[in-house]
Amino acid sequence: MSASGGAGELADPVIRFDAVTKRYGGVVAVDAVTCDIAGGSFTALVGASGSGKSTLLKTINTLETPGEGRVLLHGQDVAAMAPARLRRRVGYVFQGIGLFPHFTVAENIAIGPRLAGEALPRERIEELLRLVELEPEMASRMPDALSGGQRQRVGVARALAGDPELLIMDEPFGALDPITRDALGEKVRELHDTLGLTTIMVTHDMAEALLLADRVLVMEAGRLVADEHPRALLGGAGGETAQGLVAVPREQAERLAHMERDSGSDWAGAV
Ligand code: ADP
Ligand code: MG
Repeated sequence: MSASGGAGELADPVIRFDAVTKRYGGVVAVDAVTCDIAGGSFTALVGASGSGKSTLLKTINTLETPGEGRVLLHGQDVAAMAPARLRRRVGYVFQGIGLFPHFTVAENIAIGPRLAGEALPRERIEELLRLVELEPEMASRMPDALSGGQRQRVGVARALAGDPELLIMDEPFGALDPITRDALGEKVRELHDTLGLTTIMVTHDMAEALLLADRVLVMEAGRLVADEHPRALLGGAGGETAQGLVAVPREQAERLAHMERDSGSDWAGAV
């Protein structure tokens, strides 16, 4: 791993993974991961299906507990923190859609604070809806009366309800069409910047990681195998696994550029 990607110990990381290992029977889902996440950074966690991304992410909010090692939030072991308090500081956007179907949009957004014993005022729910560019009138709708993109906007609003400092997202846009996916990705990046969040986003899509993140971690078989800036990855850094993932969007972009050039010359020939 190169130092350019921010490897190495930070003075006050928001998150420190300290030799985190998680096994399921004989499967090592996460294998001795050590890594610091800096405040204000937008980190993408990329890798093939089954490489351990979700398991590592969930050790942050204790939905998974490491068998060995620790996860520290500002130096404090998350295992020693009250889950409701921890989960207010760490907003979580579930994989897929993940809204409760029998709750309204407002109830879905307010679920975290409610579990912590606090009612979320109506004005705050409307403010959260505005943040994700949904109409306040949507508060009383049921999830099945929303489009996929609108539902995932509600998922983001719910994750922000407790005013977290850290936002963790597990393939948040995976179920969406490409246009909705792009728009929501850019919205989340904008919220990250304007709210001053620290963000970790799991994705299997290297193009999404390169376009949105300022640091890309690559996992393979439970291990971190690359830790790079997007530009360094585009410049060929990160090793074989990382470059294999970068090759996919790069080849697509090259094929499209070719097609555009060819059709350009066709047009030129026609006039
Ligand atoms: P990713 O999110 O990168 O697709 P996961 O973290 O979900 O990967 O899974 C990593 C490995 O751990 C996989 O081999 C998966 O089958 C296994 N695994 C994950 N969760 C469980 C579980 N609850 N029980 C057994 N095996 C699991
Ligand atoms: Mg996963």
